[in-house]
Amino acid sequence: MPLLNLIFASHNPHKLEEVRAILGAGIQLGSLGDIGCYDDIPEPYESLEENALAKAAFVAERYGVHCFADDTGLEAEALDGLPGVHSARYAGAEKDNLANIRKLLQELSHRSNRKARFRTVIALVLDGQSYLFEGVVNGHITHEPRGLQGFGYDPVFVPDGFEQTFAEMDATQKNSISHRYQATRALSDFLKKCKQ
Ligand code: IMP
Repeated sequence: MPLLNLIFASHNPHKLEEVRAILGAGIQLGSLGDIGCYDDIPEPYESLEENALAKAAFVAERYGVHCFADDTGLEAEALDGLPGVHSARYAGAEKDNLANIRKLLQELSHRSNRKARFRTVIALVLDGQSYLFEGVVNGHITHEPRGLQGFGYDPVFVPDGFEQTFAEMDATQKNSISHRYQATRALSDFLKKCKQ
């Protein structure tokens, strides 16, 4: 079976390894560094879908490659889906994870509805066509941060069916149920069908 060369629009080596393991050996996966792309790719939109698509299309067009990009947000029900697409910069341009968590707990401090979900959208641009894939994990926000693993909002997010926060799970357990895993599996299933 021929290898498909695909660029993941990310500089994050941890994400790259996680995604490479899910996509398997039939995909030759490269990063932005592998194609010499160090552009500051804008993500100006108000939805995960538009931002992921803009990123993937920018790289595909400028570098002449097949490419996919992801965008993730934590959506709290009582906050009408915030921080959502603003998750990285919720408390300011510095992308400070602790400040983001503090702001989220503050905004929810008088709310009884602590339901939230992580949502990842992957946009793929392949042969000039674009496709979207989604992964969702439902759960709730704790009252205080717990755990030291992971990153971002992991210390305050408990997925449904578990008692630990994502930051209290080991990486293997989180990665086997996560929003990113589910979106990447959907991408992987699509690519397998394409290659048949
Ligand atoms: P990105 O789209 O992967 O850059 O994620 C946007 C923001 O969402 C990040 O800055 C993190 O704060 C948060 N985030 C994304 N994925 C996760 C995760 O798996 N756990 C916790 N926070 C995450």
